[in-house]
Amino acid sequence: MSNGPGIVEVAVPSPLYRGFDYRLTPAMSTPAPGTRVLVPFGRQRLVGIVLAVKTHSEVSATRLKTVSEVLDPGPVLDSDLLRLLLWAARYYHHPVGETLATALPPGLRKARPLSVSETHLWQITATGREQAARCPPSAHRQREALDLLCRHPRGLSRQALPVPLAVLKALHARGWIARLEVAARAPAEVAPLSPTTSGLRLTAQQQHAVERLRASEGHFSCHLLEGVTGSGKTEVYLQAINPHLARGRQVLVLVPEIGLTPQLVQRFGERFAMPVCALHSNLSESQRLQAWREAAAGQAQLILGTRSALFTPLKNPGLIIVDEEHDGSFKQQEGLRYSARDLAVWRARQLNIPVVLGSATPSLESLYNVQQQRYQHLSLPQRAGDAQAPEMRLVDLRGQPMQGLLSERLMHTMRRHLHDQGQVLLFLNRRGFAPVLLCHACGWVADCPRCDARMTVHQRRGQLRCHHCGAQRPVERFCPGCGSSELLGIGEGTERIEEALGEAFAEYPVLRIDRDTTRRKGSLEEALASAQSGRAPILLGTQMLAKGHHFPQVTLVAVLDADQGLFSSDFRAAERMAQLIVQVAGRAGRAERPGEVLIQTHHPDHPLLLQLIGQGYPAFAAAALKERQEVGLPPFTCMALLRAEASEAAHPRAFLEQAAALAAQLGTPAVQLWGPVSAPMERRAGRYRAQLLLQSAQRSDLQQLLNDWVARLDELKSARRVRWSIDVDPIDTF
Ligand code: ADP
Ligand code: ZN
Ligand code: ZN
Repeated sequence: MSNGPGIVEVAVPSPLYRGFDYRLTPAMSTPAPGTRVLVPFGRQRLVGIVLAVKTHSEVSATRLKTVSEVLDPGPVLDSDLLRLLLWAARYYHHPVGETLATALPPGLRKARPLSVSETHLWQITATGREQAARCPPSAHRQREALDLLCRHPRGLSRQALPVPLAVLKALHARGWIARLEVAARAPAEVAPLSPTTSGLRLTAQQQHAVERLRASEGHFSCHLLEGVTGSGKTEVYLQAINPHLARGRQVLVLVPEIGLTPQLVQRFGERFAMPVCALHSNLSESQRLQAWREAAAGQAQLILGTRSALFTPLKNPGLIIVDEEHDGSFKQQEGLRYSARDLAVWRARQLNIPVVLGSATPSLESLYNVQQQRYQHLSLPQRAGDAQAPEMRLVDLRGQPMQGLLSERLMHTMRRHLHDQGQVLLFLNRRGFAPVLLCHACGWVADCPRCDARMTVHQRRGQLRCHHCGAQRPVERFCPGCGSSELLGIGEGTERIEEALGEAFAEYPVLRIDRDTTRRKGSLEEALASAQSGRAPILLGTQMLAKGHHFPQVTLVAVLDADQGLFSSDFRAAERMAQLIVQVAGRAGRAERPGEVLIQTHHPDHPLLLQLIGQGYPAFAAAALKERQEVGLPPFTCMALLRAEASEAAHPRAFLEQAAALAAQLGTPAVQLWGPVSAPMERRAGRYRAQLLLQSAQRSDLQQLLNDWVARLDELKSARRVRWSIDVDPIDTF
């Protein structure tokens, strides 16, 4: 029916796949799409986002509810972001309201208008400048703030000032600093960077890559920058970024993990003498919000963050970079299961700007896109400067004398490197002391009561922990089965290796870096700094140590157990293993000193390992791609996975069977259904899990089925007894 003007369609954070209509009151000015409004929803009042302004609603006038409050004077999601998110909601088949809420900084998910501190900067005044030099040493906090503000005369956000708010307020009261509205600030002046500013002469390949990137300014193109570790990819980014900043445009850099950010932020900050807007998980709500405002106003020009930073508003976008594009952390594994890498490419296309995906070990998806000529390939096959490519060798463990996972050959090589003042990095992707606790008398094994999994022994804490659900209990002293005290920790984790190293290399301190040693806030940063300085001669760690870090003193890298990834049921396991090995190996010999890499295995004839060691990652990837094509796996086909779980084993099965029947009814033979089957680890955290896989050669066939199917799944009777989720382009197929 017709209700006259003044109706808005609102996306409300709820599990429903549609927007809801609300009436505006005559006193309200019509909010533009992307504006936050407070609306009644069931018994609650929720923050929603206006999707559209309408004159008609299908809902009758008597049932149409009224907007409680328009929260912002203008949209918080601009048309670019709104389009991106609406597309993501459709592509990943996620409820639109929840999708939009995912993209908002937490501070905007609450029903309050923006506060002043989130829209303002601090700036030094003339008096402040005079006083800065005279500040007594006792007032070091004030001095620190003044010094920083003197160096950044254009003003800094609250986030960029590492002093308590009280200090700023005191300085403000004295008139030494002033508040400035973000949007009012003049644009930065960035001195164009000459090749000599960095003190480096680009290699011919770097030069070529930079030129190609510069030539692509102002229109969409996607570049895969494939550069071996230490080849100077970051240098290419820096040089490609520069002209954008100089022209007042914004650059968004996505990185996989927060552990990588401090080094990178520092490097970017030093190069451009401009505050880097770093979006990491340690930011407070208001800091995050302020960063968001600055980006939206075009003031923050260089924005660096993890996955969710993709949703940063950009007033004046110039370039998007996705570093370590192969990294699994770009895919969100809950809620809106998006790939930040894939959405980055979509967003760049929409914005008509270039995007760069960089990696030493590109994903097979990206390499396939190069083959299809959708992406341009830029390659840096050699290390920059004087650094030499490390030599990789397999160590055949069969029948060798070992101390735990330390073979004699490895220990011998370690001694040589340590003696020559080299740093040694040992990699094992398994934390804890031992992955299994076994009774030698009766064979009892310590299981997790809530998962189909074994408990890991954490010796120092005297605990058994489940790495899947977090359950923990003290280590048993006597076997619950037979009462024997002969309980053995079987297998090797980092904690046990650390102990073995303490005995075999007593004179060399060991620095262990894994999730157990870096729980405290800031401890990872400290450990990485210490590792980098070379003070700890032996580094031992999990994949936290493998990625991106630059440890200039490391001359020997050893992968203690390469067999972990060789025999997995997941079709991506080999790709992941190869990437991990190459990334770990890349930590060796990054400076002048040549590096050596040892890879321990009980399967020295395994074709994957032989190919990787003998011919390198590109050859491995080419072969792996061919194999995927032959068996019809992604990226040659498309997948979606419907997962379901419940506390009773029969419920997920029943739901998935009904879902499969519905799909068969709606679908075409072009989409194949596999399952339902139990998840490989069926029970986790007390819940039983099962899954149904959908696969098709053409993306459009799969999407068409999902369009009809997903929104109807909740209508199935069995849906009420399970928790289900849909994962489009899953990276874990279990
Ligand atoms: P990547 O990101 O590919 O791992 P980086 O950009 O971090 O590589 O470069 C590795 C090291 O080589 C850094 O210390 C960097 O300063 C140096 N480097 C980069 N490009 C050059 C060059 N053209 N000449 C000399 N050294 C370089
Ligand atoms: Zn026993
Ligand atoms: Zn468990």
